[in-house]
Amino acid sequence: MTFNQLNIIQPILNAIETAGYTQPSEIQERSIPTILNGNDMIGCAQTGTGKTAAFAIPIIQLMHQAPKKTKAIRTLVLTPTRELAVQINENFNLYKGNLRLSNIAIYGGVRQQGQVKALNRGVDILIATPGRLIDLIEQGYVRLNEVEILVLDEADRMLDMGFVNDIKKLLKYIPKKRQTLFFSATMPNKIKTFAKTILKQPKEVIV
Ligand code: AMP
Repeated sequence: MTFNQLNIIQPILNAIETAGYTQPSEIQERSIPTILNGNDMIGCAQTGTGKTAAFAIPIIQLMHQAPKKTKAIRTLVLTPTRELAVQINENFNLYKGNLRLSNIAIYGGVRQQGQVKALNRGVDILIATPGRLIDLIEQGYVRLNEVEILVLDEADRMLDMGFVNDIKKLLKYIPKKRQTLFFSATMPNKIKTFAKTILKQPKEVIV
């Protein structure tokens, strides 16, 4: 299997080539068509399997192919830690190549001023840790009412870290009509039950 066979558009193929990837990993091979198709998805995969590209590549493509003249946030990626937020943001930078999409990471533990400035310039793809995101929403710096795609990354870790109520709170700000992608390294019943409340007829990808 090649990235080309996954119907990825040329600008992203170029960016993938520049990144040095020669072929998709298993999770990428199985997730990319599902996500491009508009389905909700539940993915069970560890870090290191190429899971970030498995959602970032099709999200970039979907957003590029359905451009919108809005300054509103169209994709929200929730992730448990600052390190992951930064890493995911760098991955989006890598795969978007020269496409005109803006993405930033926001997380706690640093002053919010720089993040607020970046948000005010307009962001298509926001990668955030739940606590800081709620702070910024409650201060009126962020609106999620035009989010089309929601990603929960490392959902099991987010729950272990006690983010469940933050996530439930955030869901109230996000339209019900959206595409949701749910990734977790483990799938105990607690996580499955939680996933069911968030996803609509999800396709399962377990690697
Ligand atoms: P992740 O599981 O998303 O944390 O990715 C693990 C590492 O694999 C990252 O350093 C990626 O840059 C790299 N990677 C992701 N997809 C591929 C691929 N198809 N070929 C080679 N490396 C990849």
